[in-house]
Amino acid sequence: MTSLRVEIDLGKIQANARCLVRRLGARGISVTGVTKAVCGHPDVAKAMLDGGVCGLADARVSNIIRMHAAGIRCPISMIRAPMVHETKEVIRCCDVSYNTEMDTIQNLGAAARDKAIVHNVILMIEMGDMREGISHKNLNDFATRVIATPGVALRGIAANFACMGNVAPTAGDMAMLSRLADQVEGDCGPVVDLVSGGGSANLPWALGDASTGRVNNLRLGEAILLGTDPVTGHPITDLHTDAFTIFAEVIETSRKPSPLLTRSIAPELGMLKLVRNDDLQVRTILAVGQQDTDASGLTFPSGIMIIGATSDHTVVDTAKSAVPVGSEIKMGMKYSALMRAMSAPDVAKVVHGKQTINGSAKDRETHPFLTLV
Ligand SMILES: *Cc1c(COP(=O)(O)O)cnc(C)c1O
Repeated sequence: MTSLRVEIDLGKIQANARCLVRRLGARGISVTGVTKAVCGHPDVAKAMLDGGVCGLADARVSNIIRMHAAGIRCPISMIRAPMVHETKEVIRCCDVSYNTEMDTIQNLGAAARDKAIVHNVILMIEMGDMREGISHKNLNDFATRVIATPGVALRGIAANFACMGNVAPTAGDMAMLSRLADQVEGDCGPVVDLVSGGGSANLPWALGDASTGRVNNLRLGEAILLGTDPVTGHPITDLHTDAFTIFAEVIETSRKPSPLLTRSIAPELGMLKLVRNDDLQVRTILAVGQQDTDASGLTFPSGIMIIGATSDHTVVDTAKSAVPVGSEIKMGMKYSALMRAMSAPDVAKVVHGKQTINGSAKDRETHPFLTLV
């Protein structure tokens, strides 16, 4: 078996999705599973669907095509505003797209008309994260123009938080989103079916006491996959935080003196340096690097600390204990590490707990619990 690999526990992903679907369902909020951090991995997507999510969303058309090719047939939303050159593909493979530009929406409408279909549009509103979004004051005009555009249907509005700025939405922000839904309907009639409040950063609000108002959907990636809150990094109650683990092989283990230059004490003291005074450190080198994952997003077993990483090597301090060459170290991953590992070609993805859904896995050679993909 390839030693550099991500192991994926589908049962834990399904359980996380189920738990969030149940808790948010009680608050009138549906869950869309976001698959971009796993590049639309079809087994992960199916585990989310088995957990009860009402649909899937991804930021890249290539990932959406991958899910379609694997036989996934639920509504899939494109949550990054489409690029001009991908207009036709978005029309063909996405049920809905999130948009912020009138030109793009007109392109989508024209392409949909060519295919004699209607493409569904959600308007992303800028609520302070300063990434994508239409400003509040333009919203009604914008919505009016979308409704007048042939080939597209306005289905709802959405907000996004804590992507650029690491700030969770407040109850005030969410009440504002509900008011904007009412405001659009005041001018345009009952067009706002979906009010998608944001992603995993919205969970403290959504599961708290504040009224959910008109918000009836969240788009969740990190909470389902990693069981963590993106703003604080803390685990979310009752969710699994170890559905994904990465294994890397030890390729060198040796006692080396601590690096001499540890830290300058003060610039005015020139050559005086602070040096570790413990004797020899066991430095272990793992065959995994920045090209495979984000080394700063790895979490190590207790007693192991990262010293540094380059494109292909990660150096760790294993205190006084030597880890033999050829053995493996198992690590947890934060979002940045997961995202890069899932898209890295040299990292194998090993899936546990796979069920053959609608016979879709039958054509491939599979062991019931282990599939190399
Ligand atoms: C990535 C993304 C999400 C999901 O965010 P998580 O923090 O992983 O839940 C939701 N909406 C949009 C627009 C995104 O780009």
